[in-house]
Amino acid sequence: MTQTLNALVIGAGIGGIAAAGRLARKGYRVTVLEKNGTPGGRCNQIVRDGHRFDIGPTLFLMPEVWEETFQALGESMSDHLELRRIDPTYKVHFDDGLKLELTSNLGSMQTQLERVEKNAFTGFLNYIAEGAKHYKISLEKFVGRNFYSLFEYFSLKSLPLLFQLKALEKHYRNTGRYFKDERLKAAFTFQNMYLGLSPYDAPATYSLLQYTELAEGVWYPMGGMYAAIQALVRIAEKLGVEFIYNAPVEHLSIAEDRVVGATLKDGRQFEADVFIGNADLPYIYQVLLPTTREARQLDKKLYTCSTIMFYWGADKHYPQIAHHNVFLAGDYKASFDQIFNDHTLPDAPSFYVHAPTRTDPAAAPEDQDTFYVLVPVGHLDDQRPQDWDAMVARARQTVFARLAKEMHITDLERHLKFEIVYQPEDWKTQYNLQKGAAFGLSHNFWQVGYLRPKNKHATFKNLYFTGASTHPGTGLPIVLHSARLTTERIMKENESPAIQNVPNTVLNPT
Ligand SMILES: Cc1cc2nc3c(=O)[nH]c(=O)nc-3n(C[C@H](O)[C@H](O)[C@H](O)COP(=O)(O)OP(=O)(O)OC[C@H]3O[C@@H](n4cnc5c(N)ncnc54)[C@H](O)[C@@H]3O)c2cc1C
Repeated sequence: MTQTLNALVIGAGIGGIAAAGRLARKGYRVTVLEKNGTPGGRCNQIVRDGHRFDIGPTLFLMPEVWEETFQALGESMSDHLELRRIDPTYKVHFDDGLKLELTSNLGSMQTQLERVEKNAFTGFLNYIAEGAKHYKISLEKFVGRNFYSLFEYFSLKSLPLLFQLKALEKHYRNTGRYFKDERLKAAFTFQNMYLGLSPYDAPATYSLLQYTELAEGVWYPMGGMYAAIQALVRIAEKLGVEFIYNAPVEHLSIAEDRVVGATLKDGRQFEADVFIGNADLPYIYQVLLPTTREARQLDKKLYTCSTIMFYWGADKHYPQIAHHNVFLAGDYKASFDQIFNDHTLPDAPSFYVHAPTRTDPAAAPEDQDTFYVLVPVGHLDDQRPQDWDAMVARARQTVFARLAKEMHITDLERHLKFEIVYQPEDWKTQYNLQKGAAFGLSHNFWQVGYLRPKNKHATFKNLYFTGASTHPGTGLPIVLHSARLTTERIMKENESPAIQNVPNTVLNPT
């Protein structure tokens, strides 16, 4: 007789929520333990004095991936989310005064690009065509599937794909085939920062990002990105998932080759048949499990960058700021070198400003404004002195100075009602992200596909992972893929009679 298996998910980030819902729909009894008081992880929100901020993600990309998740949970996305397309996607500001509006309107792109460089529009079309090819191949052959062996990944059949995807070429260098002007190369590579990567190190494969943005669109769910989390939690609860908040797991107990229990900081204990770690994978290996060789090796891997964040509530509205605004540093290369090699705030930082009230007036009180500013910085590094307070102060002054110089906004500081700051240490303490790396493990050639930490523990047979630091990687839709792949693996491996005969431990806080 088939019995109901219990699954325990550690973390209510988007990966944990989606995996929990999928397993519940397949008949598992699922409990989610979340350290914080609300779900969402990095995709959380802050509401203060009528201002609503998304904490992390602000770009809703690849809607078809989201739709697949809603469908897998037995629902339709349009019944839960009202999506608005943001087009122009970004206003990009260069420090010499050039401004570009990246848009799906080809006529506008042609006029703007050819003003900068003759023939750049042809280059742009070819670049987007290459991005489309990279996107389709990556999704079909790498992102959308599990790899169970190295030979599946590096088979003779897959070898040509490495070349088709330009996996061994650097992204920035590759844009030189399409554009000569350094500013255009920057405008079509800064998106690597979503993956927490420098375009000088990222594989040229990631031109897929520009394709998805311009061809498939950058979207915004009314109510903010958090509306998507709330919808998925509602659906998961309807499917029977139990979410327990303020429940930080302190350690996982092991018996032979299995995890047998999770103990919370307050001593409560939970048992299950299957455990799914959604908290950052290196943190689970290094903090929740007994020390192993894998845990030590994870410390040597490359991590993504971190960010300094400002969440500003202003008592004045600034219509000249668009929904998504990118301000690029003059010395583009130096800024990435300082982030990724020196782990610091660049001398001339680039930054991004999100102003959601353009699309969603309810994100601020009437005639006021809500701003989210993201300044990429190096991750925490205990081998170097890092004065974060000084870096936060310098980042803030950079933002005000560029808004004044390039947009003639000189009174914003005076009109701020309040400021909330996040810095790398906050990413670490709030969400247990190792090294405060805001996007998790990096995505260079050696840390993707089969080479990325797997979504199943090598030794503990009933411990699986879902989230940004396992396969396929970071970004909300990619983590939704991760939740699907992990669930598929759990279903495949736990439907065998051998596993079904394991005594059914009642999920039981003792
Ligand atoms: C500043 C920023 C901007 C971003 N912008 C975008 C964007 O525009 N678009 C996009 O698609 N992606 C974006 N991302 C990436 C995206 O946010 C992440 O890839 C995604 O949210 C990761 O989800 P996750 O489920 O893997 O992990 P998390 O969101 O980190 O969730 C893990 C959960 O585990 C919990 N947890 C940790 N330790 C424990 C414990 N011991 N016990 C119990 N619970 C625990 C945490 O509190 C957290 O809730 C951005 C990220 C950041 C930081």
